[in-house]
Amino acid sequence: MIRDAESFNILLDTVTRFVRERLIPREEEVAATDAIPEDVLAEMRKMGLFGLTIPEEYGGLGLTMEEEVLVSMAMCHASPAFRSITGTNNGIGSQGIVMDGTPEQKKRYLPRLATGGLIGSFALTEPGAGSDAGSLTTSARREGDCYVINGAKRYITNAPEAHLFTVMARTDPKTRDASGVSAFIVERDSPGLTIGPPDRKMGQRGSHTADVIFDNVRVPAKNVIGGREGMGFKTAMKVLDKARLNIAAVCTGAAERILEDALRYAIEREQFGEPIAQFQLVQAMLADSRTEIYAARSMVLDAARARDAGRSISIEAACCKLFAAEMVGRVADRGVQIHGGAGYMQGCAVERFYRDVRLFRLFEGTSQIQQLVIARGMLRAARD
Ligand SMILES: Cc1cc2nc3c(=O)[nH]c(=O)nc-3n(C[C@H](O)[C@H](O)[C@H](O)COP(=O)(O)OP(=O)(O)OC[C@H]3O[C@@H](n4cnc5c(N)ncnc54)[C@H](O)[C@@H]3O)c2cc1C
Repeated sequence: MIRDAESFNILLDTVTRFVRERLIPREEEVAATDAIPEDVLAEMRKMGLFGLTIPEEYGGLGLTMEEEVLVSMAMCHASPAFRSITGTNNGIGSQGIVMDGTPEQKKRYLPRLATGGLIGSFALTEPGAGSDAGSLTTSARREGDCYVINGAKRYITNAPEAHLFTVMARTDPKTRDASGVSAFIVERDSPGLTIGPPDRKMGQRGSHTADVIFDNVRVPAKNVIGGREGMGFKTAMKVLDKARLNIAAVCTGAAERILEDALRYAIEREQFGEPIAQFQLVQAMLADSRTEIYAARSMVLDAARARDAGRSISIEAACCKLFAAEMVGRVADRGVQIHGGAGYMQGCAVERFYRDVRLFRLFEGTSQIQQLVIARGMLRAARD
């Protein structure tokens, strides 16, 4: 449900050109320095890329889901780190407030998230609670007008850069499951909040994760998202439903880029006196990749349109995330294969993408967790 095709096409063309002319040429620099250059960040802020999904009344572009996934696919023709720095503001770092925040919370935080003046981050995972996120143990104890938060969060994307965290913590100490969890907006400069050193990761250089530690951090009671205790896990799951669909778009865009590079290489590289693209075994790898990318793109667009039409898409979002994350792994593997030895060498984009895309089968719910979400949804529907 694209609202205004003409203005959206201008945005998509602008992003596509930005990716081609400004981001792809800087990929190696990002990989070498492990940072997004400041001038690129400034351009991203100017283009509104931090506020794609934030409603227009709060200064964002208010994209529909269909528009959002199309922009993500275009952005991910460049190194995923470029999308990652804007990804939390458009996704898990803002959507809790967009979906369930009180009017005051929206007014206070969304305009600055939309401009990129604030970087938002989403803190659910803990050292002892990953796939079983509902068992989290970070606690939030009510004291007068405040809650006092204690605990530690792990692998939090953009934590080193973040000014604002959406933190899931247990407000009902009698519970062990998701029912006793509330979501809080916590500002970075709150006394007692510290960020661990950046994690040393397999890939995604330029995108950072770290532990976030809470040692008697006092948070005003008005910062409980939605103003009610016990709703935090529901908020987190709604945020993740949307985020999974977006990650599927990210996977699709990255796979398109890898295949473009592989096709170009296959046409240029000659062996046995002809381009390797002429060999049918190489053609099979190109064709299988093209087919799977087409399937992922179609699934993502279909689910995005269903969400825009107001339908619940928990199962479809999990299907998209599962298929696209596994698909981009296969495409990256074939991309390396088509490049031969060159694909194993640093400085070759497919070598970097091969490591970067491995993440997508792990975060925002592993592939196994997507399978469980899909199957449980099917069983629930069969019982009803
Ligand atoms: C780079 C990166 C960025 C991240 N960013 C964030 C972030 O911004 N915010 C945040 O909160 N978290 C973030 N995470 C955490 C991420 O969401 C978790 O790593 C992920 O959910 C898996 O949890 P885990 O690592 O504890 O693995 P585990 O849950 O320990 O899983 C280990 C293995 O067991 C399997 N498994 C677990 N339970 C089951 C089951 N019931 N059935 C079958 N198999 C199962 C898993 O699929 C996996 O293969 C990030 C992680 C990474 C690596």
